[in-house]
This record gives sequence, C-alpha cells and structure tokens, in this order.
Amino acid sequence: MASVRVRFAPSPTGYLHVGGARTALFNWLYARKHGGVFILRIEDTDLQRSSDAMVQGILDGIHWLGLDPGEGPLFQSSFLEEHRAAAQRLIDEGKAYYDFTPKLETDDRTVKEKMVDRLKAQAQTGKEPNPYRDIPAEEARARVESGEPAAIRLKVPSSGVSRFEDMVYGPQERDYSDIEDLVLIRSDGHPLYNLSVVVDDIQMRITDVIRGQDHLTNTHKQVLLYQALGARVPRFAHLPLIFAPGREKLSKRKHGEVVSVTTYRDRGFLPDALVNFLALLGWSPGGDLEIMSRNELIEKFSLEQVNKSAAVFNFNESDARDWTDPKALWMNGEYIKSTPLDQLSPMVSGFLKEAGLWRPEYEAERSEWFGRTVDLLRARYRTLADFAELGRPYFTDDFPCDPAAVKKNLKDDRLKQLLPELASRLESLAEFTHESAEAALRSLADEQGIKAGLLINAARTALTGQSVGPGMFEIMVALEQTRTVDRLRRAVHLL
Ligand code: GLU
Repeated sequence: MASVRVRFAPSPTGYLHVGGARTALFNWLYARKHGGVFILRIEDTDLQRSSDAMVQGILDGIHWLGLDPGEGPLFQSSFLEEHRAAAQRLIDEGKAYYDFTPKLETDDRTVKEKMVDRLKAQAQTGKEPNPYRDIPAEEARARVESGEPAAIRLKVPSSGVSRFEDMVYGPQERDYSDIEDLVLIRSDGHPLYNLSVVVDDIQMRITDVIRGQDHLTNTHKQVLLYQALGARVPRFAHLPLIFAPGREKLSKRKHGEVVSVTTYRDRGFLPDALVNFLALLGWSPGGDLEIMSRNELIEKFSLEQVNKSAAVFNFNESDARDWTDPKALWMNGEYIKSTPLDQLSPMVSGFLKEAGLWRPEYEAERSEWFGRTVDLLRARYRTLADFAELGRPYFTDDFPCDPAAVKKNLKDDRLKQLLPELASRLESLAEFTHESAEAALRSLADEQGIKAGLLINAARTALTGQSVGPGMFEIMVALEQTRTVDRLRRAVHLL
C-alpha cells in the first residue's frame, strides 16, 4: 500500500464549522494511524467568496484544534492552469468535447446549486444526449479558435455501470445513463469543482479521500475523471452528516456562532476535549469508551467503525449556560478535572485576564494559592469561562449576588446577629484552617441552639453570592481569613 496521503479540502467560508472540523479530524487521525501525511487544501476557486479573512477563520480553527497539516495550506486557485491543461488533454484525446450551448454563459449560480438542480432534472427526464458531443473535432477546434465561447464537458459512456467501494457506505453503483456529461470548464474558462478536485488529488498523490457524505454522489463523476486521466482511483470514505437539532443542516447564518470551532475556544473549551467529542460524532471504538486521549484516538480509530447514519449535534444558542451539546460540556468538564494543573492554570489565567480579574502575583508570591484555588474550583466547572464567571468571587470582591440564593439562604432574621458574631469568632482564630473555621461555626450554632446548616448556607451565599459551590469551609480557606470576615460582615446589608 502506497504510504497514506489524505487531505481536508474546505471552501473558505470564514469559519471552521463543527462538521468540517470532524472531517479534518478523521483525516488527521487516519493519517496519524497509518504514518501518513495530512494535507490542507483550501478550495478557493470561487473567487467572489474567497478572501484572506475567509481563509483565516479556517486556519485558526484547525490550528487551535491541534490538527496542523503536514503539507499546506495549499490553495486550489494556484492550480487553475493544471486544471485547464487536464481538460485540454481530455479534449485532445477525444474524452471530452466542447459544448457551445450559449446559456451556460449567463449562469452565475453557485456550482453546488447547479449540481443539485441538474441531479433533480436528470431524475425526472433521464439523460438527453448533448448535441455537441459528436461534432467533428476539427470543426469544434475551428469554432473555438474563432472565439466562440465553449464549455468543456466530459464524455460519459452512454451505457454501463459506474462502481466503487466506499469504506463507510459500502459498494456504490450508478448507471452511466444517469450521469450527465459533466462540465469540466465553464465557457468563461473557469474550471469546475469535480475537475479541480480530481486534478488536485492526483497531483497531491492522495490515496484516501475522506469527506462528508454530501459528496458521495459526485464520486461517480470523479471516478470517471480519474479513469479518463489515466490515474489511479483513490479509496473513498464518506462520513455521515452532522445535523443541527431538528435534522437541519448546520449553518452559521441559521444557528449562529455555536457551529463555529473558534466559539468553543472563546467560550472555554479545551482543544483536546473538543477533539474527543468530535471524534465520537459518527464514530465509536465499541464498548463504553468515551474519554480518550489523542493517542488513544489514533490507536483505536478506524474507518470501518464509522456509522452510516447522520449524527445530531445538540445545542441551544439561546441558553447562556447550556449553549452547546450537553455531552460536549460534560466532556470538557472531565478534561478540566483531569488536565494537569500546571497545564490548566495558564489556560484559566487567559480567561481571568480577558475578564480583568488577573493579578501578576498569581504567578509570583500567590502562585501556590492560585493553583490551589483553580484545583478547588475545577471539580464543578465545565468550561474555562466558568472560572471567570462562577469563579469571580474568588478573584475579586466585586461579584454579583444571585437574588434566589439571597432569598433562600439569607432570609432568617437571626442572621443579622449571627453573621457578625461568626465573623468576629473567625477573626480571632490564630490559625485559620478548614478545621478551626468549622469548629468555630459549629460551636456558635450549638451555643445558639440552631442548626449548623443555617449558618453554613448563609455563609456560602454571603461569601460567594451563590447557593452552590465547593464545601463551605473550603471556600473560607480559599478566600482566607480577612476576606471571609469582611464578607460575612458586609452581608448584613443583604438581609
Ligand atoms: N471543497 C469541498 C467542500 O468544502 C470538499 C471537496 C472534497 O473534499 O472533495 O465541501
């Protein structure tokens, strides 16, 4: 087997969406698994839509996920001459012909729309032979030389069956009579998708084409082109589509930022967690295995275990906390818990900086405290952004109070005396530890004949503005004596 060379070939749409990222990842995993090369090719021949900014969003997403290519990015637009030359060769060999039908001139819809329309039209009417298919080569050349605009079409055999084996979807068949003579070059000289993709894949010596299932039907046309160009046909693997809730196509216009990979970066995902989650969108190693490091993914990955049915990616952009797939958030939380602290802390500090909560002493004299606090908080957080939002009370005195928590935990009138008394007792402790703080609180509760829980819940809300969080004495230790005492005193205003 020739050494594996695969490619991810996105169109530059300005952002890398979750589906594209999954395709990139499966190519990357396959290349790693087989000691092959992963190539990034930007399919930027749609000139109206291509710009540096459109490309940058894709590169940023790929880079953040840690899927940097071994070759590339290469730009399809730099190979237009090769595409034209290949079409010319097919003309010279009688495998393609000039089509002088004028209407192609004004047709400015996108290539994809055209393909869909044509497929629909074919399904209804069957294939009609193109009148220019068999005009003598000499005559056609003379017309082209005289300046008459002409598209170039491939001559598809009029009978027989096209066959190829897909590594995911199995054997594929289509009658040649169902395949139109595809346009290779538009009459304005612009090479079209099927030609460009095949010529590039040949030139880049691609051994395995791994891409979205939406390209499965194009593949028959591409196989014909490989054959016409006398090239070895690569193996194909099409990946099940990823749908938005309601089985809709993922789209940024419709679904917002939540489908874009950089949103995951900006909202506090760890790249390893998103990679792990994406790997399981349409693939499973069998068994219950879910959390897998990159190395485990590489080791276990195989195209044979890719599902045929579409995966659904659940998200709810309008929910501030549960904005993305619950499994993705859960998985990210697991990575936050298990990532070594010396790797996690710098990621957390990035989010604190962004929120204006960072202090240089956190990496100097307060670094031990900082590490301990991150370690305490991470048990309950699902994103790095949680450290700056839910974790805010640990890094600043200026934090919001949840009105529901105040209502629930600070409504008892007795707290007006109890909280300042608790504050004074904690202030007088010579050593402020989990144990000494707990003993002080419990003895106050005993003396007053009240449940310790009343004080514990009240103190949690007084100290953090929240009703949930780490153990209350751990909170006190994290806030340390002075801040604990001050906040307990200050809370009287909330009562
Ligand atoms: N540029 C195509 C797309 O973005 C992919 C082509 C391919 O992978 O063959 O859908």
